[in-house]
Amino acid sequence: MGNILKVLAEENKLCTGCGACMNVCTINAITMQSDQEGFAYPRVQEEKCINCGLCERHCPVLHPEYNNADRPECYAMMAQDEERRTSSSGGFVPVVARWVLRKGGSVYGAAWDEDWNVHHIEIANEAELYRIKGSKYLQGSVEQSYQLVKRKLEEGKWVLFTGLPCQVAGLYSVLGGG
Ligand SMILES: Cc1cc2nc3c(=O)[nH]c(=O)nc-3n(C[C@H](O)[C@H](O)[C@H](O)COP(=O)(O)OP(=O)(O)OC[C@H]3O[C@@H](n4cnc5c(N)ncnc54)[C@H](O)[C@@H]3O)c2cc1C
Ligand code: SF4
Ligand code: SF4
Repeated sequence: MGNILKVLAEENKLCTGCGACMNVCTINAITMQSDQEGFAYPRVQEEKCINCGLCERHCPVLHPEYNNADRPECYAMMAQDEERRTSSSGGFVPVVARWVLRKGGSVYGAAWDEDWNVHHIEIANEAELYRIKGSKYLQGSVEQSYQLVKRKLEEGKWVLFTGLPCQVAGLYSVLGGG
C-alpha cells in the first residue's frame, strides 16, 4: 500500500502533504518527512503496515471531490481596526473564532513554534488567538488535528478549522468516514 503513496510523493509529486493518510492510519505506520526542498511527504513504515488500504482511500489527490457550486453565495466583511491590525487581511478568522469559542467550541489554526516551524494547534480561549493570526508563508504540519477535530465533532462540540485548501480537503476526507 505504501507504494501508491510513494508514487504520489516521490515520483509525480502530486501529493500536497495534507497528512490525511497519516491521520487515518490506525497503527501509526505513516510519518511525514521533509524532502531536500523542505516539503513534507508521507513515508510508510512497511514493517508496520497491515495493508488495510485506509490511507489510499482517504487521499484527496487519489480521490478528488469537486463540490463547488456554479453560483456560490459570496460575502465580504472586515473586522474592526483593532482586530485587523494583527491579522493578515480582513480579520475574518478571529471574528469567527471568537464566536465559536464563546459557544464552548474549539479552534484549530496554524501557529509558529519556538524553532520557527509551523504546526496546527488548538486554541482553547481568546487570549491564545494571537498565535494563529497572521499568514505564515511556510508549509505547516497538521499533526493529528483532523482526528482531534473528528473526535470533538462526535462529542457534539463546535469546531472551527482554518488552514490551506489542501488541508481542508484532507480534513473533509478524514471526516467522511470510509
Ligand atoms: C501560504 C498562504 C498563501 C496565501 N496566498 C494567498 C493569495 O495568493 N491570495 C490571497 O488573497 N490570499 C492568500 N493567502 C491568505 C491571506 O494571506 C491571509 O492569510 C488571509 O486573507 C487572512 O485572513 P484573516 O485576516 O481573516 O486571517 P488572520 O487573522 O491573519 O489568521 C491567519 C489564518 O491563516 C491560517 N494560516 C496562516 N498560515 C498558515 C499556514 N502556513 N498553513 C495553514 N494555515 C495558515 C491560520 O490558521 C489563520 O486561520 C494566503 C495564506 C497563506 C497561509
Ligand atoms: S495501508 Fe493501512 S496500515 Fe498501511 S499505511 Fe495505509 S493506513 Fe496504515
Ligand atoms: S493523503 Fe495527503 S499527504 Fe497523504 S498521499 Fe494523499 S495528498 Fe499526500
